[in-house]
Amino acid sequence: MEREVRHLLRFNFQPAPASSADGRPEPVHLQVLNEVHGPTLRRQLNRHLAEVPAAAGGEDCAHCHPAGRLQIRSATISGSVADRVGWLSLHGHRLPLRSDNDFLLELDVSRSPLATEAAAAEGEPCVAPSAVLGYYRVLRGRRLRCSHPGRRDLTAGAVRRALTEAVRRHRRGEGPPTVNGPAVTFCDAGGAVDCVPCVAVCASAAVPWLAELRARPRPSGWPEDRLLARLDRTLLLVPTGPHAEDDRLWRLSFSRQEAQLVRGLPPSARYCLMLLKAVKKERRDRLANVSSYYLKTCVLWMCQQRQETEWRDSLAAMDAVLEMLRQAVDDKVLPSFFCSEINVLRDPTDERLADIRRGIRYFQEEMLNLLHEMFTSLRPAKPITLE
Ligand SMILES: [Zn+2]
Repeated sequence: MEREVRHLLRFNFQPAPASSADGRPEPVHLQVLNEVHGPTLRRQLNRHLAEVPAAAGGEDCAHCHPAGRLQIRSATISGSVADRVGWLSLHGHRLPLRSDNDFLLELDVSRSPLATEAAAAEGEPCVAPSAVLGYYRVLRGRRLRCSHPGRRDLTAGAVRRALTEAVRRHRRGEGPPTVNGPAVTFCDAGGAVDCVPCVAVCASAAVPWLAELRARPRPSGWPEDRLLARLDRTLLLVPTGPHAEDDRLWRLSFSRQEAQLVRGLPPSARYCLMLLKAVKKERRDRLANVSSYYLKTCVLWMCQQRQETEWRDSLAAMDAVLEMLRQAVDDKVLPSFFCSEINVLRDPTDERLADIRRGIRYFQEEMLNLLHEMFTSLRPAKPITLE
């Protein structure tokens, strides 16, 4: 079977990212999602956010900036669809790798990305580091009429609650939204829609990530200087703390940069990542603990080390990615590709690590069978729609 799977993987390899350039429709219309559904979702949620009391936007001072109600400035699609690893071509069909859509909702907190407290005017919101690396406080601007000393937090919890309420009103009668980390999720006919609120921050106000990335040895030559130069410098904060009980802190997100790097992966490495995601999708429940984010992080690190030729045997490359993840779980550390001091295995308790380890073992044991099943009993790609 191994030989047959190897052959199928090679046979179906597409050196170029799947796109509409070959004249066939994409299962996910990225442009439609961004240009039609995004603005509609933004408008509708803004209407409901306007009904959510001002106090839900932070501690109750009516004067602090941003005052009053939260508003969404823009909604863009993010995640695997935007990374162009959202579907896999098999025998000429397109197999969607995940059926949910992530909408990144940028909040109208400040006109420009948030700077540090020292660099921001007192009346403007700013960002302040916390005791936990990779987590920040968003502080509201203090106005003349404010009677309290010091700045007040725009807490992550308050933003999540306001958005949850807006989504609940938006989907009235359709079942309550669920909150998972920073995402408020509702379901419609096309699958799950994740709404992730975010605030833009100046990279220099956060971590010296780009300097680290540039200075690091890159034995394979990837990411090339040209790709690094193209990375968006604005980072995002998403409203989720290091622990469930922490209502205040925001987590640093490199999602824009990740999307850019994944799009710039050597084709055979991107194919390997897509295959891993496809297997994961086949056993969503059993492999829930082996997060796509861990897999993506391992692929990025390995790409920095391995020559492109080493990715060509897809099966061996998939094994190597899983082996790297297993090693990271044993070490209890999987460094973020963008800032190696940040551990991507958040909250690595023994219990959680054991769960991930079990998932990896299952992945390794079943991978060949699942790939064989997928490639031999193909279901045609089903288009995803939002409304
Ligand atoms: Zn105030």
